[in-house]
Amino acid sequence: MRDETEIEAVGEAVSRLALRTPTLPPATHTNSYFVGLRAFYVVEPASPWPEEQQRLHDAVARRIAAGDTLLGAVVTHHHGDHVGGAAEFCARFAVPLFAHPLTRDRLADRVAVDRTLDDGAVLPGLDVRALHTPGHAPGHLCFAHASGWMIVGDMVASEGTILIDTSDGGDMHAYLTQLERLASLAPARLLPAHGAPIDDAVARLRFYIAHRLAREARVLDAVTDEPCALDAIAARAYADSPHAPVFLTERSAHAHLVRLASHGHITHHGDGRWSRNGRA
Ligand SMILES: [Zn+2]
Ligand SMILES: [Zn+2]
Repeated sequence: MRDETEIEAVGEAVSRLALRTPTLPPATHTNSYFVGLRAFYVVEPASPWPEEQQRLHDAVARRIAAGDTLLGAVVTHHHGDHVGGAAEFCARFAVPLFAHPLTRDRLADRVAVDRTLDDGAVLPGLDVRALHTPGHAPGHLCFAHASGWMIVGDMVASEGTILIDTSDGGDMHAYLTQLERLASLAPARLLPAHGAPIDDAVARLRFYIAHRLAREARVLDAVTDEPCALDAIAARAYADSPHAPVFLTERSAHAHLVRLASHGHITHHGDGRWSRNGRA
């Protein structure tokens, strides 16, 4: 098994260090990516735990001691398993924190974002372009390098599950739209926040889209002509996954229900229940 304490080169001018974080099980780590050569950024100073922060700080200090220049820290989105060490990191190295404006707003009472990156922005000094990809989080960013790799945050994962949580800004329609967009850009390699690099990049993105749409069809099938509650819909739609945690299935079902309602397939009633619209 790979030694999680090692920095691993994962593409041209990019390497990763996996740090333990309080993330969604079964994932246990978030990747911090070192992006750039003599001048570099750290994407996802993620861990809130001092001993893990120390590992990241030591790795960065070694590069600085070797003559490299740290330009800043970057977070892909506002979740705690991505920003948990950002304040300590930026204070330790006196560098700015970069994020999307919507992430800055969500972090306002937790971490100060110094510089904002909108869709299409280039990381100053590097050949890396930011892509605004809402859906998992409103201010989610991916980062595309000219050589073909793409840091994809929580758009996809090779460990664990991607939760679309409407109570925290999640939006299933936006998520599916952005997965399509990433696939259309034909990246060669995906670098997710959780787990190993993904080399069948476009096929994996297409699989994610197909998987979500198949689940959405099951959610729609689970909605009856009579108004029914979320827990009953989720239980029916996920009957094939009896071991999935209820909070996951209910939140995921809810994200699909919101998308189905926006497309006119179902109606959301004032009492919180849902019913199927006329089947033509
Ligand atoms: Zn997340
Ligand atoms: Zn995450």
